[in-house]
Amino acid sequence: MKWEILKAGNDLEVMRGEVLVFPTNCPECNAPASTNMKLVQIPHFKEVIIMATNCDSCGHRTNEVKSGAATEQLGTKITLHITDPSDMTRDVLKSETCAVLIPELEFELGMAALGGKFTTLEGLLQDIKDLIVSKNPFICGDSSSSDRLDKLKEFGEKIEKILAGQMKVHIILDDPAGNSYLQNVYAPEADPEMTVEKYTRTFEQNEELGLNDMKTENYQQEK
Ligand SMILES: [Zn+2]
Repeated sequence: MKWEILKAGNDLEVMRGEVLVFPTNCPECNAPASTNMKLVQIPHFKEVIIMATNCDSCGHRTNEVKSGAATEQLGTKITLHITDPSDMTRDVLKSETCAVLIPELEFELGMAALGGKFTTLEGLLQDIKDLIVSKNPFICGDSSSSDRLDKLKEFGEKIEKILAGQMKVHIILDDPAGNSYLQNVYAPEADPEMTVEKYTRTFEQNEELGLNDMKTENYQQEK
């Protein structure tokens, strides 16, 4: 990872307010492209590194977020009750370790499924719909039963309803690393429709984040 080189060199101060551009190849068509990297301060939260690649050849665009900071002491579970169409414009930082749940749709997106994103709630829901409905590998297979196709279609329609403000659901961002964020439009006041819980990670969650090994190393150094 290129940004880790910068971090190691302690050049975050240099990056502040500047866009770094470095050459890369398009992940889609392999044409030469460039990646823009920027350190962004998210209000009431923290700094993150946003990496955006735009390909002039095929039009492929990616936007990836890396947390500038290390894993937090506690995990974070953010629950928002979507009650108003304006909720769709809320900023969302979904870190690469964050799971997304919509209990009313019995939907759960595992932590690694979408990568890190800095987007809006609308952008996140659109990405989920694209991933589950449009890019679903099962949809083309011979084995796909019509029942499964119906369910995918129904899921896509429900996401559309949420996007249009016609369906009130809860969205949960559960990030054991504590690096995800959902904009509180009432900040610094509490948001009546949003709860943010901090929790202690389980051994398994530490295991998934690769933290158990790191702890062992630290203990050995202290001795
Ligand atoms: Zn391309």
